Amino acid sequence: MRDTSLESVLEHLNEHYRAVNRSKFDDVLPDTYRIEFNPYLRRLTGRITYSMRLIEISLYHYRQYGYADALATLEHEMLHLYLHMLGRPSGHNNLFKQAAKTMGIRVFHDNVYPKNRTPRHRYVFECPRCSRMVFRRRHRAANPLACGICCREHAGGAWDNRFQLQLIEKVKFA
Ligand SMILES: [Zn+2]
Ligand SMILES: [Zn+2]
Repeated sequence: MRDTSLESVLEHLNEHYRAVNRSKFDDVLPDTYRIEFNPYLRRLTGRITYSMRLIEISLYHYRQYGYADALATLEHEMLHLYLHMLGRPSGHNNLFKQAAKTMGIRVFHDNVYPKNRTPRHRYVFECPRCSRMVFRRRHRAANPLACGICCREHAGGAWDNRFQLQLIEKVKFA
């Protein structure tokens, strides 16, 4: 299945690549690099592979931190490429850091991300009618929670505030 919204984001990233190539890198960067989202990249916000002419943006970090973050990541990878094109060592060395500072480019490419995605706690809610207990990771959802069973049995399946779940306590896993 094609994800058209991601495709249009990629188009914007490609446009940004061309614009920044002109404005920050004297058009030194090749126009043959592909930009792709990588759904498996988590430890890094992005990655460049010269041999494959490929710049990857972490889909996870994009979803988490948004378009502006993807732009910052792209420019960071472009700076690697720039040093590479100039035949300089292209790691996170002093030259990289200095250039990044002058160009307003982010040096690091590791956003904070949850190492253990499962929180070590749950919030316990209780249905005021049937006393069923419900465990949730979050304290507040966008909409208040109601007991699904009671809503089905007594409200024809519609959300009903009579069965709104009451927060009882926060429990921690051992
Ligand atoms: Zn880097
Ligand atoms: Zn209930």
